[in-house]
Amino acid sequence: MKKHVVLYKSLSPALRERLGEHAEITEITQLGGDGLARLRDALPHAHGLLGASLRLDAALLDLAPRLEAVASVSVGVDNYDLAYLDRRAILLSNTPDVLTETTADTGFALILGTARRVVELASMVRAGEWTRNVGPAQFGSDVHGKTLGIIGMGRIGEALAQRGHFGFGMPVIYHSRNPKPAVDARFNARHASLEQLLAEADFVCMTLPLTAATERMIGAREFALMKPSAIFVNIARGKVVDEAALIAALQSGQLHAAGLDVFEKEPLAADSPLLRLDNVVATPHIGSATVETREAMARCAVDNLIEALAGRRPANLVNPQAWAARGR
Ligand code: NAP
Repeated sequence: MKKHVVLYKSLSPALRERLGEHAEITEITQLGGDGLARLRDALPHAHGLLGASLRLDAALLDLAPRLEAVASVSVGVDNYDLAYLDRRAILLSNTPDVLTETTADTGFALILGTARRVVELASMVRAGEWTRNVGPAQFGSDVHGKTLGIIGMGRIGEALAQRGHFGFGMPVIYHSRNPKPAVDARFNARHASLEQLLAEADFVCMTLPLTAATERMIGAREFALMKPSAIFVNIARGKVVDEAALIAALQSGQLHAAGLDVFEKEPLAADSPLLRLDNVVATPHIGSATVETREAMARCAVDNLIEALAGRRPANLVNPQAWAARGR
């Protein structure tokens, strides 16, 4: 008999068909409205879950006594309680690598968008307010040749360094738990303490996971260490920053500008002070949101889930402890 999978993210017809060859599917396309109630109703039968952007806490997962595997359509796994999953030997998988380049592209879009004031000035044109040539009040700042500071030199950090070094001639400085000699050699990059990076970088880019150690890693003290001309870019998770401190630094001019794809609470409230600041470019968590990459992520998640439900170790297993707990 086929196992039962609950989807809380839509799949393309081809991927749905592929998953359907291995499992019975209950699909909940929208978590709004009665979606969450429908998910709760489906959980008692679920052997597998596939989706993203939903906090799967103990209260929800306690409703799923048969659950064997969760396939997240994301690389970040901050929506999952790993200790809980380990305790119940539920395998969690994610979708690294396939989204790396696209997310780095988003990072660079925010770097260029903020430095060259693309959104602000394009809005001026659209509003019919381009009545004479721009002057110093509208000038942006250069990107090429400026120092790129990367906090979290992992897959996405490296892809950002590649763009900065080879594409824009930017000196690269980074902070991560460990120095990366291969990165240093490839991009002529330099590992530094957080404080050193904040003091030197023209662009401070967040590309690390949200964990207990990184939550609110950047706050008032850190903004005070940055250059007044610095631009802050966050493509990691909103909660790695103290958002109130970020707003204060932007309002006071202590920080020049910010490009933000992620926020403390998403969707960002329409009355957020961030949206009243011309020196902010805000995007709706689109790091990996291209047609090609979202399909590749979904394919990766489907493959992970099929493997896990067949009793095999999925390629992108996040919690090896759960695998070990199954006596494998
Ligand atoms: P990754 O390859 O695991 O890289 C993470 C990096 O963060 C590693 O270099 C790691 O350092 C560093 N790090 C972890 N904890 C740290 C700490 N306490 N202090 C300093 N550095 C720390 O992950 P990735 O694939 O690049 O993805 C990174 C994150 O980006 C994801 O977790 C996700 O939250 C976010 N993301 C966002 C979007 C979006 O839509 N905006 C899309 C994709 C990913 P070491 O190597 O030295 O351990």
